[in-house]
Amino acid sequence: MALLEFRNVVKRYKNFTFSMSFSIEESSIVSILGPSGSGKSTLLRLLSGIERPDEGQILLNGEDITAVEIQKRNIGMVFQDYSLFQNMNVKKNVIYGMKEGRGERNKRCKELLELVGLAGYEKRRVSNLSGGESQRVALARALGAAPALLLLDEPLSALDAPLRKRLRQSILDIHNSTNIPMLYVTHDREEAFALSSRIILVKDGQIAHDGKPEELYRRPTTSFSAFFLGDGSVLPASSIFEDANGEIFFRPEDVIVSEEPLQREEYPMHIVLNGLRINSSEFIGSGYMLNLSFFGNTIIAYSILKPHRKEVSVMILKDAIRLFNE
Ligand code: ADP
Repeated sequence: MALLEFRNVVKRYKNFTFSMSFSIEESSIVSILGPSGSGKSTLLRLLSGIERPDEGQILLNGEDITAVEIQKRNIGMVFQDYSLFQNMNVKKNVIYGMKEGRGERNKRCKELLELVGLAGYEKRRVSNLSGGESQRVALARALGAAPALLLLDEPLSALDAPLRKRLRQSILDIHNSTNIPMLYVTHDREEAFALSSRIILVKDGQIAHDGKPEELYRRPTTSFSAFFLGDGSVLPASSIFEDANGEIFFRPEDVIVSEEPLQREEYPMHIVLNGLRINSSEFIGSGYMLNLSFFGNTIIAYSILKPHRKEVSVMILKDAIRLFNE
C-alpha cells in the first residue's frame, strides 16, 4: 500500500491549474522541486488540508483524507519561518503536540532535543534562539506529534549557506534514526540532490519529471528539466547528426576540451569537433567554464586549466547526449 497517493488531484485558481497524480511508497525523503510559482505550496496546502481539491482524492496509508480536517491528518509540518510559539520556552514548544502523560512527555522531549542537536535547551526562550536553533526546535516539535509523514516547506531558505549544509546533514541523520517519511519542498536543486532518493520535478502545476536524482540530472527529457537541474549546451540536432530533428543537449562535464586538434577516428565513443572559438572563459574556483562557438551555437565546457589558445577542440561523449523533440 502506498504511503501517500495523489489520485487525479486538481485545484483551479483563476490563472493556474494544479493537476497531479503520484504515489509514494517508500519511507524515504522525496523532494518536490520546482521554480517559484510551479505549484509546490499548493501541493502542500492540499496535503496538509489548508485547501481542498476541486477534484480527486488524497490518500494517506490507504485512508482517503481528502475531507479530513487539518488537525486529524497526522501530518507534521516544518516551515521556512519556523512558526514557533514565541511566548513559550523550547520544551513547551516541543511537547505541544504530544498526547502522552507528563513523565513520558519530558522523556521524549529530552530525546528529541538530543536528536536535533539541542540537548539541554528545554528552558531556553524561543525568542533568544538563532535561526538554525529555531529550525531545530521546529523539527523536534513536528516529530513530537509522531506524524505519519513530515512535510518540510523550504525549511533552510532563511539560513546562511554553511548553516544550511549543517542542518541538511541533521535532517538526513534524523531521517535515518526515526525513519519518518519526509516530503521536502524546495526550489534548490542541490538540496534536493543531497537529501532525497527521489525527486518530483514540477512545472506549471504538473509533474515535469519524476525519478532518482541521478536519473533526472543525467537523462532529462525536456530542456526545462535539463536546465533546471544544471548547466548544459543545447544545439539543433542537425548541427551534429545528419537527418536529425529536434535539439540535442549535453552537460559541461561530458565535454572534454583539448588544445590540440583531435582525430575523429581515434574517439569512436565521442563526437569530435575541431576549431571552436573561445568566446569567454569564466573562473569558477575549481577551474574555468568556457563558452565556445560552434557554427553560431554555443557550447559550454569545463576545463581545469585556463586554455592558452583562442581556439580549442572538444569531444562529447555520445552516450551522454540527450535528444529533445519538443
Ligand atoms: P510555488 O509554491 O511553487 O511558488 P504556488 O503553489 O504558491 O507556487 O503557486 C502556484 C500558482 O498558483 C501561482 O501562479 C499563484 O499565483 C497561484 N495561486 C496560489 N494560490 C492562489 C490563490 N489562493 N488564488 C489564486 N491564485 C493562487
